[in-house]
Amino acid sequence: MSRSFLVIGAGISGLCTAWFLKQRGHSVTLLETRDQAGGNIRTLHQDGYLIERGPNSTLNSRPALATLFESLGISPLEANKSSKKRYVLRDGSLHPLPMGPGDFIRTPLFSGAGKWRLLAEPFIGRAKEEESVARFVERRLGQEFLNWAINPFVSGVYAGDPEQLSARAATAKVYALEKEYGSLMRGALAKILFHRHKGGAGPAGSMISFDAGMQVMTDTLGDRLGDALCTGVSVDILEQTADGWCARAGEQQWSAEEVVLALPAKACAQLLEPLLPALPELFDAIPYPAVASVSLGFRKSQVAHPLDGFGFLIPRITGVETLGVLFPSSVFPNRAPEGHCLLTAFIGGTLNPELADLGDDEVTRRVLRDIRPLLGIEGEPAVISVNRWREAIPQYTLGHLERLASIDGLLKSLPGLHTRANWREGISVADCVQNAFDFAQRQGV
Ligand SMILES: Cc1cc2nc3c(=O)[nH]c(=O)nc-3n(C[C@H](O)[C@H](O)[C@H](O)COP(=O)(O)OP(=O)(O)OC[C@H]3O[C@@H](n4cnc5c(N)ncnc54)[C@H](O)[C@@H]3O)c2cc1C
Repeated sequence: MSRSFLVIGAGISGLCTAWFLKQRGHSVTLLETRDQAGGNIRTLHQDGYLIERGPNSTLNSRPALATLFESLGISPLEANKSSKKRYVLRDGSLHPLPMGPGDFIRTPLFSGAGKWRLLAEPFIGRAKEEESVARFVERRLGQEFLNWAINPFVSGVYAGDPEQLSARAATAKVYALEKEYGSLMRGALAKILFHRHKGGAGPAGSMISFDAGMQVMTDTLGDRLGDALCTGVSVDILEQTADGWCARAGEQQWSAEEVVLALPAKACAQLLEPLLPALPELFDAIPYPAVASVSLGFRKSQVAHPLDGFGFLIPRITGVETLGVLFPSSVFPNRAPEGHCLLTAFIGGTLNPELADLGDDEVTRRVLRDIRPLLGIEGEPAVISVNRWREAIPQYTLGHLERLASIDGLLKSLPGLHTRANWREGISVADCVQNAFDFAQRQGV
């Protein structure tokens, strides 16, 4: 039976939740505090460059993405094939991450002992208790793999610390291989064979965005939702009523039978505290470190490196402040004017959040100091865009899944109230779309 829903927060989670609910025939109102929908997704245009303030792309690994694009009538762009290459910094130079067994044997990223250590992986037993990503990887794959492969990956995706993140929550797919197959290698092999058998393109999928950037997704969703989307509405009170729920923003109010909070953890805590005083403590235990992104435009002739890849990651063990650098103009068209290139560096994160608070000039100076010698950059950038995230990405730290279970347990006493955001079941844009789709499916009609 068709029902009425209030969705609060119009990031990709709220937009997709509202859209998929509407598609199933429910009546929906989506409330967003800012003047524009999209949340973390924002595409900027500066002097002919296309700069992503937030996500630059997402992995096309979840089926709901295709359903979304079809329903909206938009077509994503796949990342350039040559951009599959990802570099990692070791001993002062950039080395491609191995993409096959031959590359793996030859790569200087791991020592001979580190490579031999991997052969022991299939013989290592399963974890007996919850482990951090660091302990999980060290136990299964050894210290070198942790330092030079997983640690930079965790910086790149979460801007996080592998010592603090929960393997079960933050690297769920990899963790599941141990649980299901008893070994990551056996599991990965089984998946590759299974995909081949099914004629699939491979387990990972490709990175996608749009000609005019990631904001195409959220702008189109906003347009299609039409009057159902109300921007400039900061919900400050949520009340249970005889018929369901009422959200208030100053003098204005909206009512519906059910409500979905598609909000960051802290905003959920604020709205729910009067209803369930025990909840804020659980939400507040989900850390969001500060991150800054620094986008730099150069003439191609100023950069000696061919920028033939997706970008490079910098392991924390190197002591370099910058976390990693994307090569957006090598991955998608229209990111830089003809003859120019765009680089986007990230700095800050769980281990150095204070760096994200430095002034624009200082943060740019530090990024350039780090990356100039690695990419052979000469001269000054033609364009600089510094974007700060005081609370960037929720960290799925040890105990995260138990916290989610406790939150859901407490929320059972508030029928018709749901949560749908990146602090649960995946932080990527693709995860947020899939989780919104799955939620709408569960609502019937
Ligand atoms: C710098 C950065 C880079 C990233 N890179 C990638 C990437 O390359 N690939 C990828 O897949 N993912 C990436 N991510 C992650 C991804 O972008 C996010 O996880 C995702 O966009 C979160 O969407 P959301 O809707 O759950 O939350 P949000 O985008 O945070 O949306 C929440 C919305 O709620 C609104 N709101 C808050 N309080 C209220 C209130 N009281 N009333 C009404 N509205 C309210 C906010 O204004 C906001 O619009 C990145 C994230 C960041 C920060």
